[in-house]
Amino acid sequence: MGLNAELIFSVQAESTTTPAVNGNYVAHINPADGGCLLEKYSDKYSDCDFGLLSNVYASEGKPGKVLEVNVKKRTGEDNFVSCMKKTLLEHYGDRSVGMGGTFILQEGKAKLHIMPPEFSACPLNNDEDVNRWLKFFEMRAPLICQSVFVSHDPGLDLRLEHTHCFSHHGEGGHYHTDTTPETVQYLGYFHPAEFVYRIDKPSVTHTVGRD
Ligand SMILES: [Zn+2]
Repeated sequence: MGLNAELIFSVQAESTTTPAVNGNYVAHINPADGGCLLEKYSDKYSDCDFGLLSNVYASEGKPGKVLEVNVKKRTGEDNFVSCMKKTLLEHYGDRSVGMGGTFILQEGKAKLHIMPPEFSACPLNNDEDVNRWLKFFEMRAPLICQSVFVSHDPGLDLRLEHTHCFSHHGEGGHYHTDTTPETVQYLGYFHPAEFVYRIDKPSVTHTVGRD
């Protein structure tokens, strides 16, 4: 695209009986008004390349048992995904468990970010710098969210949770948390991973901007 953006993955690979379906969305800053511009990635951008970093859940798409999580009302500081991640960590300890899936923020609003189109002119040395650089928005339900989370880093230098959302009302981006703890409602479907693939692990790492 030639600019920074948030990619929301939803792809069905082709099989012997079905064609490939590119349902990806991309959220970027609208140059006209500085707001969110959500587009189908396939409309303007015909390839499936992406840059920077991503956490992607891949499944064979077959029917089977999944974990259904249906909750309302947030009582603590942790977001929906962090709560599930913490629960896994408490139960499994250093036996790392990765999950992927989709959830809908059915009621309420959420805090999401979209990266600015240009990289920062000065270095971003800590989370405060990153947060000053990112563009934050409050976006409303229903938000359809693609999530990957891992209970414990098995030494692969993973980002432990990463969730991107799209909607059918023009809003989308990177999920941080809901902003309406009293009224928020989530419905999600998840599946544990069999394998983790760590691609292009950086040789020099840091802990800035991990959430
Ligand atoms: Zn993100």
